[in-house]
Amino acid sequence: MTTLRSIDPATGAQVWEGEAAGPEAVAAALARARKAFPGWAALPVSERVAITERYRATLEARKDDIARIIARETGKPLWETRTELASMIGKVALSIAAQAERAGEKRSDMPFGQAVLRHRPHGVMAVLGPFNFPGHLPNGHIVPALLAGNTVVFKPSEMTPATGAAMAACWDEALADFPGVFQCIQGTRATGEALVAGHIDGLLFTGSAGAGAHFRRIFADRPDVILALELGGNNALVAWDAADVDEAASVVVQSAFITTGQRCSCARRLIVPDTAFGTALVEAVANLADRVVIGAWDETPEPWIGPLISDAAAAAAKAAVDDLIARGATVILPFSGIEGRSAAFVTPAILDVTGVFVPDAEIFAPVLQVSRVPHFDAALEAANNTRFGLSAGLVSADDALWERFVNECRAGVVNRNRPTTGAAGSMPFGGLGESGNHRPSAYYAADYCAYPIASFEAADAAGNAAALAGKLHS
Ligand code: NAD
Repeated sequence: MTTLRSIDPATGAQVWEGEAAGPEAVAAALARARKAFPGWAALPVSERVAITERYRATLEARKDDIARIIARETGKPLWETRTELASMIGKVALSIAAQAERAGEKRSDMPFGQAVLRHRPHGVMAVLGPFNFPGHLPNGHIVPALLAGNTVVFKPSEMTPATGAAMAACWDEALADFPGVFQCIQGTRATGEALVAGHIDGLLFTGSAGAGAHFRRIFADRPDVILALELGGNNALVAWDAADVDEAASVVVQSAFITTGQRCSCARRLIVPDTAFGTALVEAVANLADRVVIGAWDETPEPWIGPLISDAAAAAAKAAVDDLIARGATVILPFSGIEGRSAAFVTPAILDVTGVFVPDAEIFAPVLQVSRVPHFDAALEAANNTRFGLSAGLVSADDALWERFVNECRAGVVNRNRPTTGAAGSMPFGGLGESGNHRPSAYYAADYCAYPIASFEAADAAGNAAALAGKLHS
């Protein structure tokens, strides 16, 4: 038996302890999910909707407790984990609407009868979640998958098992009469590997680009398995002009440093004109970043950001920053620990990498790389100079520049004068290149949770012979 533990990154206190599922337990969970599938898929969608609404009600009743669990496990401040709970609760209505709109049934009259579009669930879905939004992001796969009639085996991140367990308890109540429809198994990557190697019909994954690339390879010759990959990015924010430099700096700071840089959509690269505006903006960003309140989730006054997920994450980010400096980057704001705090606490860092060859990689921490460019063409080229394509942003009041940016920038989320992290459940969310596999989530999750069946239907076979009349040998 392998024991799994999660800890509060701010204090090192243990939050959760339990057993990690081994290969046999994973196979048993998948077998239960397969057994439950036909009955669940055969229910009228209205019954699955009613059960999902029961889940929503339980979530609503427990939202404060679950927000605290997420805060303890991730170190995120309560204001942010409360927002996460609100997104999870809101996901239910949005998913019901998306299911009806994008994966419902449509009938149209034809001369012979009807053309009918139906959607069918895939079967048993494996869901693997990340640590940064340990409730909201798996929830964004699980709710639409279950609504569509799939059964689900979910493995939360090994950093956030308590969140996974709390969410699972809400489903367990809603699904008390339907054993096997939703199961949560705990474990590290080894448990995830056993799940992915098992008998599944789909893998719905939100996590790192490295793991996503691995899944693309292992499922390359498995057309029977639907793969939805929501991965990381090396997101660019072009800050080109603004009447008020402080307003522009606020967009940059919120893009780069919210959630201590641990959002997939955080800006990693800031591209500015090599002008007085560019210089003033970078200075304003550094001043603002230096003033943000960093602290533990339950401190007063409430901090804007907390620690990174772990001491190890801080060490990895520090190594990435040191590498940039060794390559020639100039430090504008240093990446450092905070005295008297756990090693997971770090300060936002800004590095000027103009003219320096830097890796096209995601640093999942509050680290912003600044490039100064001579003109807007160079800014666009720099923004697109990445193998990823998740989010991007432009700060500019110039409509013509925005038109060019939104049309020429290759990313799935492209924002203007708003943080790159701005997203909504009523819109699709996904990225190009190594940020995914063209199966965006959020509102479009309904698309990968069911496949369409097109049918031509006539009540009887009458009328078919007429098509051959006069075209047959007697
Ligand atoms: P991760 O890839 O390390 O882990 C995610 C989950 O996959 C965990 O449950 C882990 O145990 C499991 N896993 C990892 N490798 C596996 C393997 N080879 N086989 C089976 N299971 C495996 O990601 P993380 O560190 O938890 O999350 C942060 C990453 O997620 C960042 O790169 C971030 O950009 C990305 N992310 C993307 C989105 C999006 O919507 N595009 C949203 C949030 C986070």
